[in-house]
Amino acid sequence: MTVSWTPHRFTGGLLALDTANTVVLRGDPQKTFDRLKDPAEIARFADAASVFRAAELGGRRLEAPLPGKIAPVVLAIRETTDRLFRGAASKGAVATGDLPGFLEACAEGLAHSRTEIRAPGRPFGDPATPIAFEAALAVSALSLLQGDTVARLRVCPNCTWLFLDRSRNSSRLWCDMAVCGNRQKASRHYRRRRTAAGGTANV
Ligand SMILES: [Zn+2]
Repeated sequence: MTVSWTPHRFTGGLLALDTANTVVLRGDPQKTFDRLKDPAEIARFADAASVFRAAELGGRRLEAPLPGKIAPVVLAIRETTDRLFRGAASKGAVATGDLPGFLEACAEGLAHSRTEIRAPGRPFGDPATPIAFEAALAVSALSLLQGDTVARLRVCPNCTWLFLDRSRNSSRLWCDMAVCGNRQKASRHYRRRRTAAGGTANV
């Protein structure tokens, strides 16, 4: 079955975090699953990310014509990004021990890239042509090391996705209030009702 790449699946705030979040419920070995397990989904994810991450990408479209070929490097960047920045989100600091693997994966993503990034208005290069997905993913992942980004990284307490809190007072709690915020509210409401009815609160 193909994945429906809805806006909710792009609530990480950066391409690299949305990619990390393609593994669902990482903390639960029973329920976890990988939305990129079928490499064809990498190309479909890249198409959707071209739209939902257009601002980050400066309007440059992502392309993944051979998703099976790039799958190993994409998954390596995804997993090393998740390890490094999930740790950074909880500790508020970057562990140097996790950096070499991350940097090697990013270097591999950029190994065949011949473009120019970070020019004013062209953060990922010329928007007239597409950029290879694995190269853009590496650029996005490396940008997580910049400035105060680590201080703004959060882990959603409901779904455990990583996201960037860009709110002015750094008070965003959920990856997506409309999905995770409401689910928590609903389950709290359910527990209260069960308790009031004399039933078990353990749900
Ligand atoms: Zn969430």
